[in-house]
Amino acid sequence: MQAGTLRAQARMLAAGECSARELAERHLARIRALQPRLNAFISVTEERALAEADAADAARAAGRAGPLTGLPVAHKDLFCTRGVRTSCGSRMLDNFVAPYDAAVVERLRAAGMVMLGKTNMDEFAMGSSNETSHYGPARNPWDPDRAPGGSSGGSAAAVAARLAPAATGSDTGGSIRQPAAFCGITGIKPTYGRVSRYGMVAFASSLDQGGALALTAEDCALLLGAMAGFDARDSTSAERPAPDYAAALDADLDGLRLGVPAEYFDDDGLDDGLRAALEEALAAWEARGARRVAVSLPHLALAAPAYYVLAMAECSSNLARYDGVRYGHRCAEPADLEDLYCRSREEGFGAEVRRRILAGTYVLSAGYYDAYYRRAQRVRRLIREDFVRAFEAADALLAPVSPAPPFPLGQELDPVAMYRLDRYTLPVNLAGLPALALPARPAAGLPVGLQLIGRDFDEATLFALGAAWQRDTDYHLQAPPGCA
Ligand code: GLN
Repeated sequence: MQAGTLRAQARMLAAGECSARELAERHLARIRALQPRLNAFISVTEERALAEADAADAARAAGRAGPLTGLPVAHKDLFCTRGVRTSCGSRMLDNFVAPYDAAVVERLRAAGMVMLGKTNMDEFAMGSSNETSHYGPARNPWDPDRAPGGSSGGSAAAVAARLAPAATGSDTGGSIRQPAAFCGITGIKPTYGRVSRYGMVAFASSLDQGGALALTAEDCALLLGAMAGFDARDSTSAERPAPDYAAALDADLDGLRLGVPAEYFDDDGLDDGLRAALEEALAAWEARGARRVAVSLPHLALAAPAYYVLAMAECSSNLARYDGVRYGHRCAEPADLEDLYCRSREEGFGAEVRRRILAGTYVLSAGYYDAYYRRAQRVRRLIREDFVRAFEAADALLAPVSPAPPFPLGQELDPVAMYRLDRYTLPVNLAGLPALALPARPAAGLPVGLQLIGRDFDEATLFALGAAWQRDTDYHLQAPPGCA
């Protein structure tokens, strides 16, 4: 166990070596020092943090402390927080203060966690580099000229730079796993329906899922344990109790079948350093008794086109609610209602969000629906069936997170080239499966991530594999320069 993890901080609190208030103050001071360089936060909620920390200290003094009581957390700025702005990285919601807390915020607060602030993100979670944020991109603590990944880039940068020991995120097409990989930390994208989406601003509802980022698989297990569970306010919330993820961390891996999907490993675009990192991880799990099995996901190459059709279609529908009337940005002096809608939306949304609303509206329009939307739905089914078949031969699958290490900011990549960089993460969302991103051997000095993909609701096996790998390695504990 290493300094800086949730587990380590929990032990310090339990041993009385520091108070929740001291812990919060220490993190707030780090945020003040590094925020100008990293832009990881959109809002820092200093007063609320100190008040919650005091409440946590009081709870501990009264003998009412749980495992997370007094531990700091940062929330991605798409989880609604009562009384604190929830911008979603957009000018559209720059002035939006929710009247209620998201289920995730509520649960972590009930567990005693202390909110430090709201983290930077791509606008409405649409992006892979944080560059679509209205507030400017968060930066990668390993190299501030590089992207921290997206869309949960602020959360990943904050955890990697030790500004917060844990952060929440959302993953519609990779937004927890890819930033975790880019920043050298751990991230869990749970099974669709595992974590309530109540109060999480919607992007593509059939894909969106909340989750967590932290330094270790063990910390992610602790967080998910507190976040997961049925919530009647989210119609897609799964009606099954969350298991004790922490208890699964030491599970025996003997005989566990680890699937290696040919289509992931045979991709010519896969960076050589990444391939070597994956091989090293496989060997480590084999040494602990796991067995490597070859599997195939024949429709994998269709994931990116199918995802982008479906995600854009759903976002065009979800974002119709931002009309300048009820909340969010409203243009000045509208001439009439039509002008109010048009100008409010044009001014409120950035270029990437506008592109997606337009493309999504197109694929849903009469005459094109069958050619694009319905076809993408069929492809989605085929991808799901590929995974179901693979899980007959394997208990978990291993894959890279991103084909390459973190790329420089400001490249102004062609949008389609950017979309294609998501091709390793998207299949998991289309199939609704859980996946755990873990840092592996860095390539050319930059963080690299691998992901373990599990059966529906089998996050426990992923945590067991992840914790074993992290007992054998220390990639997850390496701190970026100046951030130890
Ligand atoms: N990068 C992907 C996209 O732009 C995924 C984003 C996400 O998971 N929210 O859609």
